[in-house]
Amino acid sequence: MPIVYLGVGTNLGDRAGAVAEAYARLAAAGQRLLVASPLYETEPWGLLDQPRFLNAACAIETLRPPHALLALLKHIERDMGRRTTVRNGPRVIDLDILLYDAIEINTERLSIPHRGLLDRATVLVPLAAIAPHVRHPLTGRTITAHLRALGPITGIAPYPPGLG
Ligand code: ADP
Ligand code: MG
Repeated sequence: MPIVYLGVGTNLGDRAGAVAEAYARLAAAGQRLLVASPLYETEPWGLLDQPRFLNAACAIETLRPPHALLALLKHIERDMGRRTTVRNGPRVIDLDILLYDAIEINTERLSIPHRGLLDRATVLVPLAAIAPHVRHPLTGRTITAHLRALGPITGIAPYPPGLG
């Protein structure tokens, strides 16, 4: 069964509750949750004047092909009350497909591996916590290697504060 890594982000309302609810909804829709990363609190990326995010990553087993999985993610985002569509803007929940086995897709509607994967610590740090040795299908390098290549990491802390 395909293994998919998802990125999760949220910066409105009960953020930790939103992450848990997203996982519960994925499971309820038949996606098997294999592992979830710790939560990290992160500075906003791209659009700076907004609350801090919680970011996480998880691995699921899915029978849904990539576009069907994307449709499910968007459905869950909508059901959880996501309304804003500003790129990198505030949202109650953001569910992104980071990696889907070694599949490569490159369209505007769906890009896998995720476009932001290699240059965003907010994505790489949670992903490296659960998939350090997984290789990026385009570069052949591991997630850990890509994280190291970013250099010093700032603006990310374990959540709740004091953990880790
Ligand atoms: P963000 O880039 O901040 O995650 P959105 O969540 O609003 O922004 O996503 C914008 C669009 O990006 C979505 O409508 C979706 O079609 C597209 N997209 C392209 N690749 C992916 C992917 N790997 N995972 C999720 N959405 C993707
Ligand atoms: Mg998204």
